Amino acid sequence: MSAPIAFDIVIIGAGPAGQKAAIQGAKSGKRVALLERERGIGGSCVYRGTIPSKTLRESALHLDRLRRASAAFEFSLKPDAEISSLLSRLEEVVQTHDTYMSKQLRRNGISLFHGRARFLNDRTIEMQTVDGARQHFTADHFVIATGSRPRNPQEIPVDHEHILDSDSLLSMIYLPRSLAIIGGGVIGCEYASIFALLGVEVTLIDRAKAPLQFMDQELVAQFVASFEQHGGHYLGGQSIQSVQWDGATHVVTLLGDGQIIKSEKMLVALGRQANVEDLNLGAAGLEVNGKGSLSVNQFCQTTAPHIYAVGDMVGAPALASKAMEQGRRAVRHALNLPIGDAASTIPIGVYTIPEMASIGLDEKMASERFRNPLVGRAKFEEVARAQISGAGHGLLKMIADPSGERLLGIQVVGDSATELVHIGQMALQQGALVESFIDNVFNFPTYAEAYRVAALDILGQVAKRQTAAAA
Ligand SMILES: Cc1cc2nc3c(=O)[nH]c(=O)nc-3n(C[C@H](O)[C@H](O)[C@H](O)COP(=O)(O)OP(=O)(O)OC[C@H]3O[C@@H](n4cnc5c(N)ncnc54)[C@H](O)[C@@H]3O)c2cc1C
Repeated sequence: MSAPIAFDIVIIGAGPAGQKAAIQGAKSGKRVALLERERGIGGSCVYRGTIPSKTLRESALHLDRLRRASAAFEFSLKPDAEISSLLSRLEEVVQTHDTYMSKQLRRNGISLFHGRARFLNDRTIEMQTVDGARQHFTADHFVIATGSRPRNPQEIPVDHEHILDSDSLLSMIYLPRSLAIIGGGVIGCEYASIFALLGVEVTLIDRAKAPLQFMDQELVAQFVASFEQHGGHYLGGQSIQSVQWDGATHVVTLLGDGQIIKSEKMLVALGRQANVEDLNLGAAGLEVNGKGSLSVNQFCQTTAPHIYAVGDMVGAPALASKAMEQGRRAVRHALNLPIGDAASTIPIGVYTIPEMASIGLDEKMASERFRNPLVGRAKFEEVARAQISGAGHGLLKMIADPSGERLLGIQVVGDSATELVHIGQMALQQGALVESFIDNVFNFPTYAEAYRVAALDILGQVAKRQTAAAA
């Protein structure tokens, strides 16, 4: 083994969190090493998560648009459609991303090493390559960005052939005729709506009466209605008694109320768990918490102040956007650079069909903090752009304080929701008033017009309250 290599910062994991941490370190003039156990860079975001699922989603939406545009023709997918034909752009997207990221790392002078990393002590990392070679690294600061993997409870026999998780789902060769999904979180709901649109008979099963408990339930109701319109079926308030492959044709799921669901395939989407096992954290004096991850303070510092942990490995929300921001902030903190306070307003985007997004307080949170907050609604059917594109179902909710002046949050369901929410995000960050959405002239026809409609709704309610108070 060669002598240890000294760096200013060593980062473990080249997913979104690790990459942004590395780039921040290098841009600040530091010597940075990025250690990644896989051959490619990009983490689960690129290979098993965000990019593959959104590529399949784009194909489903494209097929749906074709179907709607050619109503005069009979248009349907072949019964034995191959998943690869729906993911034909994936390789190209992943390749482009990989090339772009590699160039960015090289351009910034970041040293990329491939191998599995573990702590030897709180100042030394050992990395083992696939051929067994070992290399030691020392540094002033460390960033752990090792991400997460699907949480598969022992009682569910995930075999990655009939009973799959989100890492193995897209390795299916053919589009199944039926798919049962356990778990009504983001991943379960996204895949449920994508496969339903592709004509698969989807049953989504969850403990809760409605899925996506952390989202505004008025938005979720619209999602569930659309999912069921596309042939999907949501089974809420259910527990799972057993799941097994019958050895011939079906996965058989026995529910708590005695119902039996038979499906060709099953997706287990019961959350994520942090990748901590390989890291030998004890050697660095770090302890895993009750949730199986590392606890960190607001600067992403672990109990060892020179060791930071960022991204999925520190827990929810498991979002690439959050992971990148934490990577960047952790390194800025380590280097005593100003970090700003953007982290309090991270938007949530859920790429179901239709998609959903949220920033700031929703109606329920606002009601808990204020008496009688005001809620302005803009239904997409009132917005010309949505009428033109045939995407009439959608809703933008604007949440304001009881005086109707101060903007508290925005929630959107419908076409372009994940883009549209950023207007609200900027307004919130700038402390804009509800009235500013009326004072501004928006392009016409646009979805952004929904902001104006919702703001007018709030001002209308303010006027009514004032009239009632004066009477
Ligand atoms: C199906 C699905 C859809 C998703 N859709 C979205 C979406 O639309 N929008 C969004 O924002 N987020 C989405 N996400 C979440 C997003 O992918 C994650 O939040 C993001 O990838 C987390 O980044 P990370 O850098 O923390 O971890 P990862 O991306 O998991 O990267 C961790 C890296 O660390 C490496 N590593 C682990 N252990 C070691 C070790 N010991 N030594 C060396 N290297 C190691 C891994 O190989 C990996 O490359 C989705 C996730 C899934 C599963």
